[in-house]
Amino acid sequence: MTSSENSCPTCNQELDWDGQYHCGGCERHYKKIGFCPDCDAELEKLQACGSASYFCNSCNELKSKSRVKFVFKTVD
Ligand SMILES: [Zn+2]
Ligand SMILES: [Zn+2]
Repeated sequence: MTSSENSCPTCNQELDWDGQYHCGGCERHYKKIGFCPDCDAELEKLQACGSASYFCNSCNELKSKSRVKFVFKTVD
């Protein structure tokens, strides 16, 4: 069984999607942010042909999604 890629950073429960990521346990919304595996800059998400790519403005290149570090941040 593969673990969920979208779990709450606080309680590890699987997040729902209601336009944003939502944790029913914490009653909080989160947004998913990708960070560059090479320089730790926040990546820009590009939507192309149904698949997302991640671009680092600091390295000035696309990063493979499998290498991107994702962090969920609380949305107020
Ligand atoms: Zn939670
Ligand atoms: Zn970078």
